[in-house]
Amino acid sequence: MSGTPEMKLAVVGAGGRMGQTLIRAIQAIDGAVLAGAIERPGSPHIGLDAGELAGVGHLGIPVTDDALSVFVGVEGVLDFTAPAATVAFAELAAQARIVHVIGTTGCSPDDDAKIRAAARHAAVIKSGNMSLGVNLLGVLVKQAAKALGADDFDIEILEMHHKHKVDAPSGTALLLGEAAVAGRNVSLADHSVRVRDGHTGPREDGTIGFASLRGGSVVGDHSVILAGPGERITLSHHAEDRTIFARGAVKAALWGKGRKPGLYSMLDVLGLNT
Ligand code: NAP
Repeated sequence: MSGTPEMKLAVVGAGGRMGQTLIRAIQAIDGAVLAGAIERPGSPHIGLDAGELAGVGHLGIPVTDDALSVFVGVEGVLDFTAPAATVAFAELAAQARIVHVIGTTGCSPDDDAKIRAAARHAAVIKSGNMSLGVNLLGVLVKQAAKALGADDFDIEILEMHHKHKVDAPSGTALLLGEAAVAGRNVSLADHSVRVRDGHTGPREDGTIGFASLRGGSVVGDHSVILAGPGERITLSHHAEDRTIFARGAVKAALWGKGRKPGLYSMLDVLGLNT
């Protein structure tokens, strides 16, 4: 034991797939302790013990809908919920000056602007994917996109997720798309093709195409295909367990403790932001 006090963390969306995984991850990681669990008003999980909800036994932390009173007593919040909830939590976390780790995907440009504003007052770490593997994949995709020019190589991003996922393309697919355009010094907004249907005409050089599949219980599969004349490179990641995202989120919170306000990504946390 180092004698350093454990970082007090709250989980919002505590009853969700990621929320429960986060509670288990906090229990398993040295240096962090669960100090609050939040769900929306009216949720059937309100009042339940967070540990029992997540299957790790009684922790003495009841799930509550009173986010403000929890935020003033913790040092960080782990948030894998929904865009509107995340924007509201970002404002509260900024007021409380606590670390806000955001895994929520599907945020609009307007949501992102509000999150950036909140990051003027607190350390916010936001990423469409908190796993080491996907963030390393992003670095590789950037290198490959830079080395294999848009005149010869077409980039397509394919993702598959479980049937409950509500946004598309996935946050991870967009993260990988951002990595590809960073390698080519262009913007994703001007170069992405998010849907193809009907008589689309030939592919435009330099675009990044996305395709989303949904079904079953798939945690998250992503492939970036660089298709050139006579050869094709495929860079893939397969998430087998949500624990990889939860561990990354706890690691991000510990990294953010004591850090100056700002908007950070997992690349910063993992030291991959070169
Ligand atoms: P989920 O099972 O639907 O969980 C979301 C939870 O947030 C639910 O319990 C939901 O409650 C709760 N919630 C929604 N609005 C809330 C509010 N205003 N206050 C408190 N709680 C609220 O979804 P999931 O699979 O865990 O995914 C959650 C998000 O994380 C998605 O955006 C997903 O894409 C993302 N994700 C990111 C990563 C990453 O590494 N960045 C990895 C996996 C997933 P109700 O059920 O009552 O609505």
